Amino acid sequence: MKTNKPDPYQPCPCGSGKKYKFCCYAQGQQLSSEHPLAQIKKATQFPVSQCAVNVGWQQQGMANVFVIRQLPNGKYMFGVYLVDLMLLGVKDTFFNTNLSAESVQSMMRRTDMPVESIDYEDARNLIFGSIEFARQNHFEPHPDWENSKHIIEPERPFQPKFSFGMDGKPVYYQGIDDEVDEILAKLPKT
Ligand SMILES: [Zn+2]
Repeated sequence: MKTNKPDPYQPCPCGSGKKYKFCCYAQGQQLSSEHPLAQIKKATQFPVSQCAVNVGWQQQGMANVFVIRQLPNGKYMFGVYLVDLMLLGVKDTFFNTNLSAESVQSMMRRTDMPVESIDYEDARNLIFGSIEFARQNHFEPHPDWENSKHIIEPERPFQPKFSFGMDGKPVYYQGIDDEVDEILAKLPKT
């Protein structure tokens, strides 16, 4: 990742080969002044620069997925998705935008879990697949999904790749701030 403020007379961060001032500069200036919610709705205009997930997510049944896109002003936007593969789907999520590369990296380090790269399509598969599985069990994603979904193209179909639950059946592991009674009430009585 590059530093936050591109030099106007250096090559543009978009990789066009033109100088920044004569390429994405104006678009970047305009974007910096827009509301974060307006920026997030345009997310798919900006290239994905990094996708990461905690090491061992398949064994743990819990994935912390990061999707980061590069903005034309040399900054970044990201979405974070805490995915329960066993039952609840996207149980927490948030996004932020207009951040320097350093801020993005320190946000990722804050989770205290080693992360590794994940293919963008695999990240989408994992997140959308978990939501589909959770909905079969009557769980909806966290309300902030309505914003952070824009980072991973919510309208484009995905090819199911991963399996969820234990042998396809939901399993509930209690999290720290789960509404336990509400969750248990939705589970089949078995
Ligand atoms: Zn450019």
